[in-house]
Amino acid sequence: MQSVKSSIISEERNKLIDQLRLRGITDENVLAIMNSLPRERFVGGGFEKKAYEDSALPIGLQQTISQPYTVAFMTQMLQIQPGEKVLEIGTGSGYQAAVLAKLGAKVYTIERHFELYKQARQILAELSIQVFTRQGDGTIGWKDNAPYDAIIVTAGAPDVPNSLVAQLRIGGRMILPIGDEKTQMLTLVRRIDQEHYEGHNLGEFRFVPLVGKEGWQEKK
Ligand code: SAH
Repeated sequence: MQSVKSSIISEERNKLIDQLRLRGITDENVLAIMNSLPRERFVGGGFEKKAYEDSALPIGLQQTISQPYTVAFMTQMLQIQPGEKVLEIGTGSGYQAAVLAKLGAKVYTIERHFELYKQARQILAELSIQVFTRQGDGTIGWKDNAPYDAIIVTAGAPDVPNSLVAQLRIGGRMILPIGDEKTQMLTLVRRIDQEHYEGHNLGEFRFVPLVGKEGWQEKK
């Protein structure tokens, strides 16, 4: 039998999933996975009560867990197939990585802040979700495991990082926000061949900045 608390949570979660559907998310696989993941576990600092609102929430160090709609939209656009190798830049809470892993992808994720890396790694382990985590600058990728079928950048970049394109397989796709430090155009990139890639704009979004060698410079 479900406890009162868990039945309230599953009701809130169902509501969120309905909202995502109304906003245009059609991938039932993605929706089912988001309906099975305890987002409240990835949200700390007293914000657990808001875990099933469709909004970004603080996770410390001035970073945020992305809005559920953004996670659903980016994941849907990547069209992940089971067994694909996916690199995520910006682990943050670990929630997006968990969604990708549940889709059957082999997920590698990089986070620049040690504290967030550590926290995400622990939560993923507690939920028995297998993801390869690492602390470092994700703008230069994770070369040892390249090429990737897909790359997802969950922080706003000034431009497409060349190192990341180079670590995509030919035909591979990457989704990333490109713009200034306030608003960005979510862009879907496909690597065509050794030298070329194409990009499509998917609309405006807001992300925290991607800080690193091929991103924004750290503010002193
Ligand atoms: N995908 C995350 C969203 C986190 S917000 C989630 O599901 O919760 C973006 C994250 O990108 C932040 O945690 C930030 O610290 C991280 N980040 C910014 N620049 C980075 C870089 N160069 N390499 C790795 N992580 C970076």
